Amino acid sequence: MTTDTNYDLIIVGGGMVGASLAIALKNSGLRIAVIEAVAPNSLQQPSYDDRGIALAYGSQRIFETMGIWPQLAKHSTAISHIHVSDRGHFGVTRLSAVDEQLPALGQVITARAMGQVLNAALSAQDNLSLICPASVRSLQQHNDVVELELDNNQTLTTKLLVAADGGQSTIRHLLKLGALERDYQQTAITANITTERPHNGKAFERFTDTGPIALLPMSDNRCSLVWTVNSGDEVALLNASEHEFLNQLQDRFGYRLGKFIRVGQRHHYPLKLMQADQAVQQRIVLIGNAAHSLHPIAGQGFNLGLRDVAALADVLVNTNKDSGDARLLHDYQQWRLQDQDNVIEATSNLVNFFSNNNPLLGHCRGAALSIIDALPPAKHWLAQKSMGLDRKQPRLARRIPL
Ligand SMILES: Cc1cc2nc3c(=O)[nH]c(=O)nc-3n(C[C@H](O)[C@H](O)[C@H](O)COP(=O)(O)OP(=O)(O)OC[C@H]3O[C@@H](n4cnc5c(N)ncnc54)[C@H](O)[C@@H]3O)c2cc1C
Repeated sequence: MTTDTNYDLIIVGGGMVGASLAIALKNSGLRIAVIEAVAPNSLQQPSYDDRGIALAYGSQRIFETMGIWPQLAKHSTAISHIHVSDRGHFGVTRLSAVDEQLPALGQVITARAMGQVLNAALSAQDNLSLICPASVRSLQQHNDVVELELDNNQTLTTKLLVAADGGQSTIRHLLKLGALERDYQQTAITANITTERPHNGKAFERFTDTGPIALLPMSDNRCSLVWTVNSGDEVALLNASEHEFLNQLQDRFGYRLGKFIRVGQRHHYPLKLMQADQAVQQRIVLIGNAAHSLHPIAGQGFNLGLRDVAALADVLVNTNKDSGDARLLHDYQQWRLQDQDNVIEATSNLVNFFSNNNPLLGHCRGAALSIIDALPPAKHWLAQKSMGLDRKQPRLARRIPL
């Protein structure tokens, strides 16, 4: 076998999840390469667009231990409260950081700002080669290494290949891995909204008969909007004048933030569930959206991917074994499977429960929100779940550096 370069770990995809894994392993002594298809500053970079990402408190702790939270914090807005309601029905659930005895329930940062911080950290890392723009043309699994051929004709080998190349993962397709897929027939519209009243750190999730609306607190009295509609309905909203768009949003959301004053650039994302049949293969692991792409209804996709990162990094630094050792990858898979299955199931149930116009179900939703609100243990359970703190925590999430 002729090779140009040999690595301990090659990460395909330098988006939010792949870049985070490389940074988590900066002191591991592993020789790492990140292969990324799109140049970091390009406007075409799909991972780092203008959508607001709600980072759970558990994710903040992982970034703190990785040493990049101070840089991320400069671009983040704390979530002090979460308000969940269902349009046309009584009943709300309110979560608060004070009740959870935490400084914040989470943070909101644009994917673009996160990308700038992650890319700056990657370029300062000395155990890392960033190969960009490049993508993988073919791969072969051998007993001791995986061999990759890139579209720039380079040939590389690695003991472990991590696919972090997003929902349309090339690695998953090259491996011919099957996946559970569900087209929700829904589309998310995102935009930044300037509101009349200050958000005071409050995040809103409002379920409506035309789909859920999330408004997340951001700087300069703006909120980051994720408005899910039935596919096809997004066209009129994307083409509507600013005045018409804000009127329709106001009608669905109400006046909890006063009048909506301005809307920034609107983007849209068709929504699908995808879960790869196998996230671990011989010397290969799929993480982040390459392994599981979720509906953004609960803002859990990246948080789940970052927990993949923290667990995989934990397993990799905890051993003297070869980084692609089958036992080690098995341990990783056992650790992660339950969290992944639980979050995927909970997200799908939420979509089913709240995207249904059956009036009886509407009353049940209202009652459920009220009951949770009235029961502190139920609220605590929900808050712990949404913050990613309800299961075995990897060292990075426990503030133990790797
Ligand atoms: C509207 C919306 C709102 C969301 N809000 C939240 C939220 O509030 N909280 C949350 O936790 N999650 C949220 N998510 C989910 C979150 O955006 C994803 O989970 C996250 O982007 C996954 O990151 P990733 O790095 O796995 O994949 P991606 O972000 O898709 O990155 C993949 C990377 O791989 C690169 N790549 C692709 N193919 C190749 C190849 N062949 N070779 C090399 N490189 C390649 C791409 O250029 C990219 O850089 C939201 C998603 C949407 C759509």
